[in-house]
Amino acid sequence: MSDPKTIIEAVDAIRSGKISAGELVTASLDRINQWEPHIHAFLELFNDTAVQQAKDIDGADNTTEQPLAGIPISIKDIICTSIGHTTAGSKILQNFRSPYDATVIMRLRRAGAIIIGKTNQDEFAMGASNEFSAYGPAYNPWDTSRVTGGSSGGSAASVASREVFASLGTDTGGSVRQPASFCSVVGLKPTYGRVSRFGIIAYASSLDQVGPFARTVKDCALVFATIAGQDPLDATTTPHPLGRYTEVCGQDITGLKIGLPKEYFSDQVNAQVSATVKTAVKQLEKLGATVKEISLPLTQFAVPTYYVIVKSEASTNLAKYDGLRYGQLAVEATSLLEQYLVGRGKYFGPEVKRSILMGTYTLSSGYIDAWYKQASKVRTLIRNEFAELFKEVDVIAGPVSPETAFPVGQKVDDPLAMYLADMLTDPASVAGLPAISVPCGFASVANATGNNVPIQLPVGLQLIAPHFAEEHLFQVAHAYEQSTDWHKQMPALPA
Ligand code: GLN
Repeated sequence: MSDPKTIIEAVDAIRSGKISAGELVTASLDRINQWEPHIHAFLELFNDTAVQQAKDIDGADNTTEQPLAGIPISIKDIICTSIGHTTAGSKILQNFRSPYDATVIMRLRRAGAIIIGKTNQDEFAMGASNEFSAYGPAYNPWDTSRVTGGSSGGSAASVASREVFASLGTDTGGSVRQPASFCSVVGLKPTYGRVSRFGIIAYASSLDQVGPFARTVKDCALVFATIAGQDPLDATTTPHPLGRYTEVCGQDITGLKIGLPKEYFSDQVNAQVSATVKTAVKQLEKLGATVKEISLPLTQFAVPTYYVIVKSEASTNLAKYDGLRYGQLAVEATSLLEQYLVGRGKYFGPEVKRSILMGTYTLSSGYIDAWYKQASKVRTLIRNEFAELFKEVDVIAGPVSPETAFPVGQKVDDPLAMYLADMLTDPASVAGLPAISVPCGFASVANATGNNVPIQLPVGLQLIAPHFAEEHLFQVAHAYEQSTDWHKQMPALPA
């Protein structure tokens, strides 16, 4: 049996009869059995349906029209699937079963992908560590005493540990890119409006996007090509033509202009992370890109702008979890008001409650002008600042995160520190721009367990492009990846 490392290899191996979809699924389930006790990437597994789907693919006459035929993929639990539960990492949705598949799931199924299970996440995608999951955190495969990042931590961990070939997550302010960076896999946040959100449980409607995780840039492009495009069921998707996402992987980057914002290398960013990313940028120069230093002075306002907007929108999106329309009923409540208080009090976790409190305040009469509307204006300024710079450069490069994966427990009681974890991912989110995280090396960090042997933790290079220019991201990221071997390095299964 061959051992394909990427989706592209696996699809070839299935088509040429070197491996069956059934064998691929069995191998995936075996890895899951080995890794899950250490990383808790999954909240639910679909072993039986996955095996059945693989049988169907192996029995089909021809799968050449299906670009992902037989490929095991995991799905963040905020994405509705007609099989199993969809909890969004929350107790309030513990028993929720979606009556339908999200559009992205329908598209994956049509492409022949095998949905292996649902992945762990911060509750309602609020968080940057996966520690706000109501079902316990996921752990980083590179060091299980550390966080995976979040909120799509389970998705990133499932790809990094090679349990699956790819995963779908969602990114509102960094939730695909930051865990991808912490776990050394590729992760894309598409342009706002590029991927359907029909069937995605909303966190903040002006920011949420579904994004793929994969082991390589080309695999990521392939999954993205499958899910991208207009959807009549989501009015925020646009008719903008799709790009040649996989074809650009392999194109030369000579002459491409890359901007390096000095604010992304400030002293708030760990020195080793900065140095690792700068080395990656040197590599892009060697590959023919021209690099110039630029400035994005409004970067410092991205976190406050993002958090006012995200929490305001979250507070309205979460109003429907009242036990009557959605969410668990508090059986002990004796009145409607008590139902709201007891049910929401009992089944929402701390970050969700914080969001509702903050968001209700920033939207309330007398305060909405000073907060939500003001933040919306700053958002326009940030967007314009990017637009101006994109007249001079094709792509902006910097770190994804100011640090490497932090120890479990370090920030969980310090909301501000947790929010600052997305200081370098919020800008692109607020501006609606596409951005990718690609593995670019390892930084040496003191061992959290206290012995003196430093450990090596992954660092991600972030590339940001103009609206709908995902092609640029794939082209540059692929050229970089293929000139290094970071994507071939894998975490070792803990003893
Ligand atoms: N950490 C950010 C937040 O909690 C981003 C999360 C996300 O992208 N879903 O809002």
